[in-house]
Amino acid sequence: MSTTSKYKCNACGYSAAVWDAPDPAPIATVDTRHCQGCKSLVEVPLEFHGGGLLGDSDVVPSFLNRCPDCNSTNVQSWDAKHACPKCGEHMIGGDINNGYAIS
Ligand SMILES: [Zn+2]
Ligand SMILES: [Zn+2]
Repeated sequence: MSTTSKYKCNACGYSAAVWDAPDPAPIATVDTRHCQGCKSLVEVPLEFHGGGLLGDSDVVPSFLNRCPDCNSTNVQSWDAKHACPKCGEHMIGGDINNGYAIS
């Protein structure tokens, strides 16, 4: 399991838990993406590896690279910018296990 960090925007109050690295969950690898559709940080399935469970390893489910909230396929990598999806201000991260590193 990968770990998540909590990010918060002090400008508008938006906060989200962000994967530190793509998480190899049993069914599909998920990672945090910036959804342009609903302007949120969402957990998006990127790579399906549960084909064995379905008895067909070639199946590619339709939920890959798609926002689970609004169904938009306009999801982008977020790591580099750390900009708030709501207002564009910088978000500040803290290790969720150690509480907020910011006040
Ligand atoms: Zn904001
Ligand atoms: Zn969305």
